[in-house]
Amino acid sequence: MLLPHNPNAFTRSPLDRAGHHRKDEAWLKAAMESDQTSLLIFNKGRPFLCEENGGLAVRWLAPHVHAQLGAREQPLLFLGLDENRAPHFACEIADAEALGELGIFEELRPAAARLPGDKLAIIGAARAVFEWHSRNRFCANCGTPSRVVEAGWVRKCDACSAEHYPRVDPVCIMVPTLADKCFLGRQKAWPRGMHSALAGFIEPGEAIEEAVARETLEEAGLKVRHVEMHSTQPWPFPHSLMIGVLCEVENDHDKVDTSELESGRWFTREEAKLLIAGKHGECWAPPPFAIAHQLLKTWSER
Ligand SMILES: [Zn+2]
Repeated sequence: MLLPHNPNAFTRSPLDRAGHHRKDEAWLKAAMESDQTSLLIFNKGRPFLCEENGGLAVRWLAPHVHAQLGAREQPLLFLGLDENRAPHFACEIADAEALGELGIFEELRPAAARLPGDKLAIIGAARAVFEWHSRNRFCANCGTPSRVVEAGWVRKCDACSAEHYPRVDPVCIMVPTLADKCFLGRQKAWPRGMHSALAGFIEPGEAIEEAVARETLEEAGLKVRHVEMHSTQPWPFPHSLMIGVLCEVENDHDKVDTSELESGRWFTREEAKLLIAGKHGECWAPPPFAIAHQLLKTWSER
């Protein structure tokens, strides 16, 4: 799949990550003093946004805010350079009230649909890195508190010299298909009528295809015979990579594992089209910013 065709939210960031600057302390210091620099602020994983033209926009701030807000102890993350080579950074602040009326900290999941796609990709990357920092303050090798280096992209342990890099957890997410129908599951906690793709973490020693086959059999009792890669999506809740596939199965005698799912059901291609359009009546599918929506949409249009 070519890059511009990835249909998923949180992809296609307009920033050049310019990773060679991450170790350049002098360059980073100058960038944080430049008028050209923009700063994205988070509080408890919520990006700082404002209303604009009926939607949401990032409320970029000047870099000096970083020192003023007492965020010096938190990781300062270099996000990259925009098309004008202007640096972009992000940081977390503890006090949500400190910025007054300038904007509002919004929960990312509900805000995602109202944000422009390019900004969503920037926010998602920053959020995933901050989530990783918040869960990895101590060296995984020796247990000593580690410190942030390389502009937020590495944690270093001074006791044992180990370096730790932000981790990405691969998750396979799949829509099983059989001839002219597809299978979707639902979890008990979901809103009434919502059905979605099956999903599960890829385990050590598994190929993606093998994880797809195992999860599909475990969750729905369906035996996979062919796996087709669709697309992937970075998912910053907290720091996963969703690997989306369509998989053909051999049997339609589903047997849902009720420890993982509440129920599941088959949908015809026509029903899948109605789910995508939000016109099914009885059931509904996740919104377009979820890769499950894109998987279902692709299959429904075949
Ligand atoms: Zn250590």
